[in-house]
Amino acid sequence: MASDIEHAVIVGGGLAAVRTAQALRDHAYAGKIFMLSDENELPYDRPPLSKNYLLGKSTDENIRLMTVEALAELKVELLLGHKAIGLDRAAQKLTVQGGDAITYDQLVIATGARPILPTMFQGKKNVHVLRSADDARRLNKALQAKSRVGIVGAGFIGLEIASVAISLDCEVTVIEAAEAPLIRSMGVELGKIIQQWHETKGIRFRCGSPVSQVHGDDALNALELSSGESLPVDIVIVGVGQKTNIDWLAETGLGLHHGLICDVHGRTNDPLIFGVGDATCCHMDGVCSPTFHWTITTDQATRVAKVICGKSDEVPVIDDHYFWSDQHGSRLQFVGKVGANPRIVYVTGSPAEEKFVALCCNGEEVTAVLSLANPREFLRYAMPLRRGERTLLPT
Ligand SMILES: Cc1cc2nc3c(=O)[nH]c(=O)nc-3n(C[C@H](O)[C@H](O)[C@H](O)COP(=O)(O)OP(=O)(O)OC[C@H]3O[C@@H](n4cnc5c(N)ncnc54)[C@H](O)[C@@H]3O)c2cc1C
Repeated sequence: MASDIEHAVIVGGGLAAVRTAQALRDHAYAGKIFMLSDENELPYDRPPLSKNYLLGKSTDENIRLMTVEALAELKVELLLGHKAIGLDRAAQKLTVQGGDAITYDQLVIATGARPILPTMFQGKKNVHVLRSADDARRLNKALQAKSRVGIVGAGFIGLEIASVAISLDCEVTVIEAAEAPLIRSMGVELGKIIQQWHETKGIRFRCGSPVSQVHGDDALNALELSSGESLPVDIVIVGVGQKTNIDWLAETGLGLHHGLICDVHGRTNDPLIFGVGDATCCHMDGVCSPTFHWTITTDQATRVAKVICGKSDEVPVIDDHYFWSDQHGSRLQFVGKVGANPRIVYVTGSPAEEKFVALCCNGEEVTAVLSLANPREFLRYAMPLRRGERTLLPT
């Protein structure tokens, strides 16, 4: 594919790709836009896959990020079933599996990530991961009332699946290697608050005791934990982390670490190549942060589009670690960083009320905010942190 008109090629067919295409048009990108996806369906949103879509309460149409009409209106050419497998930067050309090479003037890499599945779980027919709409469809069929469900990994996707499974009357046990859920995002103290809330809903936890062995041939029938306990299971869902889809960039000289290394504006070490979304990582203050959240992905898409359209304003970007999740029908929101031995102060509500805003403090300084079912009050306390302002405990 060659063209005299400037053209941007976006590799990926998820949120990052769609939001980048939309933002390019918002910022008056006049060239052609091609979007390549290795999936065979129109772009869809992933958060509902572990929530209403998994419950069977929303349809394929509900989760679409773009309709055919919207794509046409934006003048975006979507190439489904097109997997990028190589890149020649000197020739500005992508290699596509089983197809013609595609040239670009600007290239946006938005290939996302895939779930990690440890070897012990591979090839077993009752083991699930959750990343794609097909994964959610399979899991929705598998979750039957009274099924004994073992969820390996207490990250936010694992906890969301746990809340769906318990509402479908399954018997749910969450197994986590660390001492509490969500530790990487919000630390032990807040993680334990979330754990206790889930326990009130009937979900059992085995924290600090990873799966050491699995039993069963074709299908797993028991998970053995390092504590020696054996948990009988009918279904196992593994949510122990993700790996970025950047393998195909290995020989290209682009900076790669946990993801494609980008600055806060999505720029890589090649001025014609950008990264957006879960495929990327950003090195800030000497720390490598992968993205892995919806809001950060959409913000990043806008910044990349602005750079491509020559509108970068170099406004400092705050890495505020904001994310949201829906569990047991309630919105959980978090922003900030939790230090060692934080003081937790409830400024409104309490876990017992299943509605609260908790401030996480280092001395008098607020470093993080966690809210359950209270988005309005969350905003009040979270906004200063989101703006990067130093915040003290209210008196
Ligand atoms: C089940 C689930 C629930 C979530 N819930 C929340 C939530 O509640 N809150 C929150 O903040 N975030 C949530 N997230 C995270 C959020 O959905 C992601 O951050 C977001 O989807 C990232 O978008 P992306 O486009 O970077 O990646 P993806 O959505 O993974 O899209 C990447 C696309 O690229 C395609 N692709 C990969 N390799 C190639 C290739 N070589 N060539 C062509 N195409 C390729 C993939 O097939 C895919 O279509 C959730 C994620 C999942 C999986």
